[in-house]
Amino acid sequence: MSTTPAVPGAPLPGAPLLDVRDLRVEYRSRGRRTVAAVRSVDLQVAPGEVVALVGESGSGKSSAVRGIMQLIRPAGGEVRFDGQDLTTMGRKELRRARRDMQMVFQDPFSSLDPAMTVAEIIAEPLMVHTDQDRKHRRASVVEMLELVGLRREHADRYPHEFSGGQRQRIAIARALVLRPRLVIADEAVSALDVSSQNQVLQLLQSLIAELGIACLFITHDLAVVRSIADRVAVMYLGRLVEQQPTEELFSSPQHPYTQALLSAALVADPRVQRTRRRMRLEGELPDPSNPPAGCVFSTRCPAAIDVCHVEMPELLPLADGGRVACHLVETVAAAPGLAVR
Ligand code: ADP
Ligand code: MG
Repeated sequence: MSTTPAVPGAPLPGAPLLDVRDLRVEYRSRGRRTVAAVRSVDLQVAPGEVVALVGESGSGKSSAVRGIMQLIRPAGGEVRFDGQDLTTMGRKELRRARRDMQMVFQDPFSSLDPAMTVAEIIAEPLMVHTDQDRKHRRASVVEMLELVGLRREHADRYPHEFSGGQRQRIAIARALVLRPRLVIADEAVSALDVSSQNQVLQLLQSLIAELGIACLFITHDLAVVRSIADRVAVMYLGRLVEQQPTEELFSSPQHPYTQALLSAALVADPRVQRTRRRMRLEGELPDPSNPPAGCVFSTRCPAAIDVCHVEMPELLPLADGGRVACHLVETVAAAPGLAVR
């Protein structure tokens, strides 16, 4: 296999669709300390793959999304989409790239313009990115409505006439109408009750699978990712602490933080109860403008040893794929002296 792309700058075969390297997102405001909400995040999404980004509220997930989408220009790192670095793109290029990366947001009550009809909302990306005429746009809207389980009569109504679950269906229709290559869903089901959560999740899952769309699925709730994600990345205080294929992460979580998240999420799952000691997450997430020395999780980690309070562990490969940043876990590249398990 050749390692040289046929076209200079074109992605290599098998290259990730989204390739985030060393991403850093900061908020600066006058008279206050800079908040580094995202520090050194590496994340890849292959074409058609579903990757979940998980972490408790405040861990920097939405900031990472803003940095990836260039809604905030990152303070550092690269965001390659289909081989092209978005962080160096100008407005016009970015606009073109965004056609292929669409978003679904958390709040179905504020993410849809209340003054627009459902048809106008769903057709908006077509207006921005295509020269389809009115008739074709209308046909696309009707097709999308049916695809997300709504009806053509819904097209001329307004968002307030719909339930939360229906509004997220409308948001999904808008996100998919251009057949993007990547959908980023930021807490897309978090505001919904459990039964609508499951329905919207199943809908999103079946549509992206059917259309071959990759997805970066962001949630604070590890329980919802098991069915949808191929791979899970766990974020804590601006950093990735673990990444594994979904089944491996659920059956063999390596980082103490992942273990704590899992035992909180899966208390109802008897298989998990039997095989794993419950672990409760004590204390609060530290202030990202004043992070702890050493490992970001050291202040809450029940297993922390001296080195954890001094040195931030690197995200290193595990023997069976996946990566973890923990001094206590044996990684492929770790010095044997540090592996205490
Ligand atoms: P998550 O989506 O995981 O809940 P966020 O990315 O929203 O996390 O927030 C990460 C950190 O960045 C939090 O400490 C939050 O208070 C801070 N933050 C988010 N948005 C801003 C902002 N606009 N200005 C300053 N700090 C912010
Ligand atoms: Mg968020």
